[in-house]
Amino acid sequence: MGIRLLFLLLALLVIYFIGRHFFRQGQAKRVKVKRGVDMVQCIHCGVHLPESEAIYDEPNFYCCEEHQRLG
Ligand SMILES: [Zn+2]
Repeated sequence: MGIRLLFLLLALLVIYFIGRHFFRQGQAKRVKVKRGVDMVQCIHCGVHLPESEAIYDEPNFYCCEEHQRLG
């Protein structure tokens, strides 16, 4: 009975460490994604903004439709 309990504790410990390992990896990935946001510059006014919010008109980026029109 004592040995079974020991094994159970050991198993729980292993699960805990594996879980923590994966949790840390997940956190690291999130930070990486956050830092990996590419900043682009509006060719018209020079303002920096995330690529996802910018208007891309090959080969230039714009901060708004007006600046895209003005070029
Ligand atoms: Zn602009």
